[in-house]
Amino acid sequence: MPLILTLLVPAAIGLILTLFIRYLLMKKRYALAAERQAPPDIPGIADKDAFARKLGQLIQIPTVSWTDRSRRDTAMFVKFQETLIQLFPLVHRELERQVLGPFGLIYHWKGKNAQKKPVLFLAHYDVVPAEQAGEDTWEQGPFNGTIKDGVLWGRGTLDIKSQLAFQMETAERLLGQGWQPDRDIYFAFGGDEEISGQEGARNMAAVFKEKKLYFEFVVDEGGVIAKDQLAFLKGRPAALVGLAEKGFVTFKITAQGVSGHSSMPERKGTAIGRLAKGIVRLEKKPFPSRLDPMIRNMLERFVPCVSFGLGLVFANLWLFSPLILFIFSRNKTTDSLIRTTQAITVFKAGEQENILPNEAVCLVNHRILPGDTINFIRDRHRQVLGDKDLGLGDAGNWPANNPITAGDPEGSGFQLIREVLAQTHPGVVAVPYLVNGSTDSKYYGDLTDQILRFTPLVLNPKDVAAIHGVNEKVSLENLNNGLRFYYQLFCHL
Ligand SMILES: [Zn+2]
Repeated sequence: MPLILTLLVPAAIGLILTLFIRYLLMKKRYALAAERQAPPDIPGIADKDAFARKLGQLIQIPTVSWTDRSRRDTAMFVKFQETLIQLFPLVHRELERQVLGPFGLIYHWKGKNAQKKPVLFLAHYDVVPAEQAGEDTWEQGPFNGTIKDGVLWGRGTLDIKSQLAFQMETAERLLGQGWQPDRDIYFAFGGDEEISGQEGARNMAAVFKEKKLYFEFVVDEGGVIAKDQLAFLKGRPAALVGLAEKGFVTFKITAQGVSGHSSMPERKGTAIGRLAKGIVRLEKKPFPSRLDPMIRNMLERFVPCVSFGLGLVFANLWLFSPLILFIFSRNKTTDSLIRTTQAITVFKAGEQENILPNEAVCLVNHRILPGDTINFIRDRHRQVLGDKDLGLGDAGNWPANNPITAGDPEGSGFQLIREVLAQTHPGVVAVPYLVNGSTDSKYYGDLTDQILRFTPLVLNPKDVAAIHGVNEKVSLENLNNGLRFYYQLFCHL
């Protein structure tokens, strides 16, 4: 046998063995939690509409967040807070309540064991406008709270008055049974998450910091039980538990020109032309891609649920990550999980066709992959723009933040969610996830080392499109299963 073959054959056999052994290991390590016997059901669940009717009342209060804050109807936010008192009387009798103006609401439920670290549940009660998405095309009015054919309609059913209602209703029913949690439970509800949480979550996080509280874990929105969203799972739902969140920053790029008559433009080009060239250079150079540890762990946890071939790939990312990066980069959704994104969202220049503008401005918005930072992006832009006359500054309209990575797939919070899901949503595979958008939990990064962004609602691609879109709605069955999840979760705290 030629020397080359005597070397290659054992190497190939070694490689195949390694791939296979890793596949078997991952398949065993991440096997789905056993489906337990049906747990005791949540009291009162037999009345299938009861919870939906309460949530429907909350949907009817149009707590709309407008970017132009002067358009907000503050009275609606106060009304929302007061409606909670009527809907959840036991909560309001037993729990300590702290109102931080119209946009912040904290509850404290004392536990039996002061030695145990408290836990914190977050949700927000503001919603995005429904008009912008075309109110006319809603099949049921967005603020009617209609229940029809087993479905509750309206803005906020998915994002995310449901989460708030799950938490309040679970507490209400447990209080009705005389139950007391083992550890302290806090709730913090914000009224301005959709416009960055500066008045709600930021102030509430400051209150907790002042009290020197440190939470075992924090639960917020961000991930859901995704159904038919990942083709390779062949219909198996996946609970995407957001353990990391991308950062957010917007830069303003400016080109100065000389205002004047358009019949005599400057030889070196107009402000608009120079800014446009800078933008083209940016768009030609997307940020580098890589597999974040959270995404790696997510893929490895899919191993027991996918075909043998794909399982072999997911179990051996040490070898196949370039292939995964290539495949992910072909689709905008998956591409956003592997790099810092850049999107030119605003371009402004010029007023009239015969006048040269003295300035052209654009905004470029970024969702920052863990590992990258705001400073890194700024430095890179300076290089890539390649025109020292272009100004680069902070846009400053929304607060910027670096990525938040408080989360651990081996931590107590993720494990608990995984186990509870095995009870209430058998067959669902729970995986860690990187949340693309920005949530209120960004203000709580210093208050815990586990943030779990998850809502126990099963959503298909159509449901996802309705979030911030038209015809947002949720089935009563979905709601009741979500309530079951929260009930089991609280019982295991
Ligand atoms: Zn939301």
